[in-house]
Amino acid sequence: MNVDPTLYRKAFQAYLRRGTPIEWSIKQETLPELYVWRTREDEKVRPAHAMNAGRVFNRNEPPSTGHPGSEFNCRCEAVSFISGHTEFAYLEFDTSLASAYNRWTDVEFVSHYYFGNGQSVDLLEIGHLREIAEEYAWEHGAFRRLCDQIADTARRARQGKFAYDFRSAYDFGAVAFSHGNGIVLGQFTGSVLHESGMLRINGLAKFEFRDMFEDPLDLGIEPGGSPYAITGNWSALFRGEVFANAERSDYTSGRSG
Ligand SMILES: [Zn+2]
Repeated sequence: MNVDPTLYRKAFQAYLRRGTPIEWSIKQETLPELYVWRTREDEKVRPAHAMNAGRVFNRNEPPSTGHPGSEFNCRCEAVSFISGHTEFAYLEFDTSLASAYNRWTDVEFVSHYYFGNGQSVDLLEIGHLREIAEEYAWEHGAFRRLCDQIADTARRARQGKFAYDFRSAYDFGAVAFSHGNGIVLGQFTGSVLHESGMLRINGLAKFEFRDMFEDPLDLGIEPGGSPYAITGNWSALFRGEVFANAERSDYTSGRSG
């Protein structure tokens, strides 16, 4: 390794003063400033770390979670980022998910069934938008899968504008018993630029939540109310640079394991 003499002197002094191995000091100084947060992508990854996955961070400015591996039992890794050589991809909420309304409990869901005349309700006005959107994105892993699907669609498009439609049912019972299964559907629209083996992708994904509250007998209450729709909308920006060759890429629905 060709080491700058100033850097070597600094590392040597650290060795004399604190016994810090010289090679370790040099490596710290020569690591690129930027890194990509990589997770193991299994169900053991904590949601706060899944949220950081595929994002580029600066070694001098740790995210609120700290750097990868700094928390007990964290198996995440910091992969040095070199533009044009390192993949990254992430979706980031673009709408404010904060609600000024009181959060509905199961009691309010049932009450609306009897007294709401079938009027639909929006996740924002019942104070559930953030929980549903985050449950979908991180607990159900939908953002990561969507990153893979967007990358695959970009590979087929190669260059220019493209779109990708998605739709799946998820169990949102962890947010509120009354939700049970809901559908999240939407569309990604964006563009891709193919440059020396890399695809640079940018765009916006729009999400729509659909559910019906219609089965109160399961809750053990009297019949006689009106079913009503639960709706919701949010969006997220996508940014990514992925290998054009799917076989080399971490971002593809086709990868195994
Ligand atoms: Zn972790």
